Amino acid sequence: MDEYLRGSCLCGGIRYRAALPASHASHCYCTMCQKQHGAAAGSYANLASAGFVVEQGAALVTEYASSTHGRRGFCRVCGSTLFWRSEESPDRIAITLGTMEPEYAGAVEKEWYPENKPAWLPRR
Ligand SMILES: [Zn+2]
Ligand SMILES: [Zn+2]
Repeated sequence: MDEYLRGSCLCGGIRYRAALPASHASHCYCTMCQKQHGAAAGSYANLASAGFVVEQGAALVTEYASSTHGRRGFCRVCGSTLFWRSEESPDRIAITLGTMEPEYAGAVEKEWYPENKPAWLPRR
């Protein structure tokens, strides 16, 4: 198994890698994730920030401060959401599952704010 996971943004300007293992993959239905992703949830896996490397396009990575400690990284060309990090836990970074190539192979273990799931999601 590859010791890194890899990913890119929609326009291909940004490519990153992150050293495994990944943990605590989740779908987050909070209002901030919904707004930033334009979707029902933000989907992330947590990795060590020390192992996160932007291999290409570092100048395109833009961060939005969504709270006093939260930083949401995205591509300034295409808008792809890439990661979320907290200045309160600088050793970890949460990377978006949807930008990973190949697709994330682990399990999603957690749903945050499930009470905030929109009614337009498919019914089980
Ligand atoms: Zn891009
Ligand atoms: Zn969220």
